[in-house]
Amino acid sequence: MNSIEKKVVTRFAPSPTGFLHIGGVRTAIFSYLYAKKMGGTFILRIEDTDKEREVAGSIEHIMESLRWLNIEWDYGPDKPGTFGSCIQSERLASYKKYALQLIDKGLAYPDPYTKEEVEKFRQDAEAQKKPFLFRNYRPETFDEWDGSKPLRLKVPEVKRYVWEDAVRGQLEAGEEMLDDIVLIKSDGYPTYNFAHIIDDLEMGVTHIMRADEFIASQPKFLSIYDALEIPYPVFVSLPPILRDDRTKKLGKRDGAKDILDYRTEGYLPEAMFNFLTLIGWNPGTEKEVFTKDELINEFDLHRIQKSGGAFNEEKLKWLNKEHLNSLSASKYKELVLKAIPAKYTGLPSFTEDRLEKLMPVIRERTHIMADVTTAFEVCEYDFVFTDPDVSLDILRFKKDPDVHSAAPRLQHLALLLETADFSSPDTIKSAVWDYAEQEGRGEVLWPMRVALTGLERSPDPFTVAYIIGQTDTLRRLQAAYDKIGHAK
Ligand code: GLU
Repeated sequence: MNSIEKKVVTRFAPSPTGFLHIGGVRTAIFSYLYAKKMGGTFILRIEDTDKEREVAGSIEHIMESLRWLNIEWDYGPDKPGTFGSCIQSERLASYKKYALQLIDKGLAYPDPYTKEEVEKFRQDAEAQKKPFLFRNYRPETFDEWDGSKPLRLKVPEVKRYVWEDAVRGQLEAGEEMLDDIVLIKSDGYPTYNFAHIIDDLEMGVTHIMRADEFIASQPKFLSIYDALEIPYPVFVSLPPILRDDRTKKLGKRDGAKDILDYRTEGYLPEAMFNFLTLIGWNPGTEKEVFTKDELINEFDLHRIQKSGGAFNEEKLKWLNKEHLNSLSASKYKELVLKAIPAKYTGLPSFTEDRLEKLMPVIRERTHIMADVTTAFEVCEYDFVFTDPDVSLDILRFKKDPDVHSAAPRLQHLALLLETADFSSPDTIKSAVWDYAEQEGRGEVLWPMRVALTGLERSPDPFTVAYIIGQTDTLRRLQAAYDKIGHAK
């Protein structure tokens, strides 16, 4: 059967060697999107055959990361299929079965050499300035395989390989890439090279999406497919994720950290999903903000790019803000409330009314929820809940030589605001605007804002007055006025 007619099956196959980072998650997203788009199946497979590199807790961590991003798997470590477990260490019988088939065909043999002997071959090759290829030292006769020695492939045909990659087009590599690679190690576990091919076969995987760094190994993989006489799936090599300056691959320091750290920082999973899909794939339009369903609908293999895509943290933040703004007001408020330090939410002046009025200011300034926490921690919103301790130095408008000139202005402002309509920042603005125009905007609005907030930088004075309300506004104007009066 032609692969186009088969139901699409994709898989994401991480090794449990630590947390999932940006690159791995992007591979998972592309595999997931394509399966969903085609009405197919998406498998999460754990490749845990290198027991030395395994990190305890990784499988749980991987599942938690994918769950956070709403990437559901049809089969996974917690959901075996008719093909059995999705954890390689629980599939050893399958690898053995195919290994024995290869032995029967004369296409696999136990490696008879000691480590020292192999090292000597390597040195020989080096002395002759030739690449070390195990097949040049293949023994003439093969022993029985009792599992105590590594089992190697007898590469079926040393030839130039030409193959199709859905992203890269036609690729080829010479015989120097082919060797008698290890299929099963002496510890009984298969190598990645062998295991993933058996799993993909048994799980019916039709499309393999993985990082393009695997292209170099492709001839080896193809020689295993050929030895087993099984058809090739579709190979889809994904471009690397580069640093924003595109000078090299994204490293740990540039943002390739644990994906769940982004959750802690207050990124939305929807934004992260959207962002990662746009690295190395594009929809062919200018549209950048997508829901998951829209992405499933739009995704296609032919728009995966060959060249690397840059990781731009500013774009991630912008997308996060866009996704935050598409949340309902109540959901948004719930996230904000979680981000505000408890010492504020416990204040008697932390009222529903003030929070509600502050919300547009928070929305305007927030890209990720950590911004809310930081703003509170650096006391940016203290003015909402407590009267400021105003410094005369800050209160003085820079063009005024003397802070005393602010006193009559504050007094006049108080007079105007006593009868003003406080139902919106705009109504407050109209109450004082003519006066500010006539007296000088900075001369009036600077001391007004500082009297209300105590801060050099804050939202505009009308918004501040609206948030804190008429009583507090008048009291704070009076307090600043009194303070000037006491100054020499
Ligand atoms: N276990 C491999 C890795 O973590 C997966 C490669 C593949 O998808 O075939 O890199």
